[in-house]
Amino acid sequence: MLPPFQTALPIIRTLEDAGFKAFFVGGSIRDSLLGRPVHDVDIATSAKPEEVKALFKHTVDIGIEHGTVLVLYKGNQYEITTFRTESAYKDYRRPESVEYVDSLLEDLKRRDFTMNAMAMDKNGKLIDPFRGSEAIRMKRIETVGSPEERFREDALRMMRAARFTSQLGFGIEPGTKQAIKRHAPLIRHIAVERITQEFIKLLEGEHPYEALQLLQETGLLGFLPGLCDREAQLFSVLHPVLNELSEQQLWVYLVAAANPEDANAFLRKWKLPNEKRKAIVRTLSLFRMRAGRKWDPLMLYDAGEQTALDAEAVFCAFRRENPAPRISALRQAFQKLPVKNRSELAIDGKKLMALFSKKGGPWLKEMLREIEKALINGEIENQYEAIRRWVLCKYPQEKK
Ligand code: ATP
Ligand code: MG
Repeated sequence: MLPPFQTALPIIRTLEDAGFKAFFVGGSIRDSLLGRPVHDVDIATSAKPEEVKALFKHTVDIGIEHGTVLVLYKGNQYEITTFRTESAYKDYRRPESVEYVDSLLEDLKRRDFTMNAMAMDKNGKLIDPFRGSEAIRMKRIETVGSPEERFREDALRMMRAARFTSQLGFGIEPGTKQAIKRHAPLIRHIAVERITQEFIKLLEGEHPYEALQLLQETGLLGFLPGLCDREAQLFSVLHPVLNELSEQQLWVYLVAAANPEDANAFLRKWKLPNEKRKAIVRTLSLFRMRAGRKWDPLMLYDAGEQTALDAEAVFCAFRRENPAPRISALRQAFQKLPVKNRSELAIDGKKLMALFSKKGGPWLKEMLREIEKALINGEIENQYEAIRRWVLCKYPQEKK
């Protein structure tokens, strides 16, 4: 048994000693069979949330309406969920309320894919009623039971299938894929935040190209925020080079490829956090500038190193080019800049105001900008005296 499970064993024992059943379940079992790092060891139990809370000192109600209590134990957090079914599906979404059951098997049955529907007991024995371990060996994503029914119950599962394709590099069982094709429009019933959450995991995964291809093939892509009518355009630029891009770079690539009238409005549809949206839009505008001309030192300085590298990576992806040589050349070019950002200037607004005995105003901003340009172009050295002489000579009229 892997260390993360061993550390959590006392929790299973505490539940069992109180007369309840308890097992490790879900993603951690899948990841341990795959030899991938195990995070989030989740536990399923016959104890009701109130009974779980009574047994442990430090608990947080994170999803009590779904039967989940968070237990804090020895610096780790464990989600402990009461065995449940989700029988009352409404509107193609997971239900608001749940029904508790007392068998592990019933609980495993409600889970999405066979690889996610395994459990392990305190002795490390695998409980695998739906042959999830075989699916893992075959690198196959398949639903527990009828895919048609399972996607009708909760349409988000179709997005989850795509994100697992990206994270694990697995293929989709043909029946499951067919069912996604048939039920793709149901994704419209799912809250955007939940779609975005899965989509981000898809972009962060190792195989986003294969996952995007799956979204395209099944028609799901066209039902994602802002992508209706853009499918064909997007598909024409999908290419395995995408697997080299980071999540942020992939957003930029997708917005550039979908080419909506207003990038900001497009990203708002996905309800991304403001900071993230701004960073994507900024990189996108640099990418567009870059597509029109080569980097020059001032453009590089204004972009900042990371944004420039992101824009360049997207540029290479559009050209289906190996980014490594261009990226390393750009890094070197950035290192050669005499100053990397405004805070490195040997002069600042305060010193300029003192020098010209003048209060701040638009003149100050313009002057700082001119100094920056002269520094980047190598006209002056980044030393206070040199800059002072240069500005006094260039702006004699400003001196009172
Ligand atoms: P990750 O490593 O990304 O956390 P995970 O498999 O643990 O992957 P979670 O979203 O944390 O995924 O869900 C935990 C478990 O709950 C899953 O393994 C699966 O058994 C079940 N599950 C999650 N979402 C659904 C769903 N929409 N329908 C059915 N079962 C689900
Ligand atoms: Mg998880």
